[in-house]
Amino acid sequence: AFITLEGGEGAGKSTQVKHILERLRQAGIDAVGTREPGGSPGAEVLRKALLSGVIEPLGPAAEAILFAAARVDHIDKTIEPALSAGIWVVSDRFADSTRAYQGALGRLDPRFLRALERVTLNELYPDLTLVLDLPVEEGLARAARRRTPAETLDRFENETLEFHQGLRAAFLEIAAAESARCVLIDAARSEADVAQSIWDAITYRLMD
Ligand code: C5P
Repeated sequence: AFITLEGGEGAGKSTQVKHILERLRQAGIDAVGTREPGGSPGAEVLRKALLSGVIEPLGPAAEAILFAAARVDHIDKTIEPALSAGIWVVSDRFADSTRAYQGALGRLDPRFLRALERVTLNELYPDLTLVLDLPVEEGLARAARRRTPAETLDRFENETLEFHQGLRAAFLEIAAAESARCVLIDAARSEADVAQSIWDAITYRLMD
């Protein structure tokens, strides 16, 4: 099965990926964790460019295409081969991040993003998407706490509070519109409580 985690900054996605992998392995299920942007050697090269800001002169449409290029490589080199081998894949972010981030910037035609998603995914939709939701202020405070003093903000973390609120609204909208595949998780609770809710969703949706 293919599971994705989505949500804004400081929602705890990468921490929860680790918990999921541990629980799956305890249940005797072979699973691999991955992330976006990145998740394959080629896509990790694009991640560096995308997060550093060097591609800024390109504008939002070209940027969205670069995120899509990274995703195609991630799918071809990492996700598809694992799924074909019967290995579960758990990804920290996937296509819904493009809908939310590149969509929330508001400068792109939703039809453009939908068409891009269609050719990028080629029918590979996640079996389950966990949308980790928490108040923007709490998420940003968590992200700031986890950052080491020497670490610089990536260009998206520098956005305004309004941007992050728009992002949260976008993820909530996706969760509501795609309830067959999405489960909304209250991520403002403790790490252990969030992990338990996620495991409940996985067993209920994918293992019964
Ligand atoms: O989840 P993580 O913090 O590692 O994501 C890296 C950054 O990439 C985030 O700051 C997020 O804002 C950005 N991003 C994006 N568009 C995507 C996926 C991630 O702007 N489609």
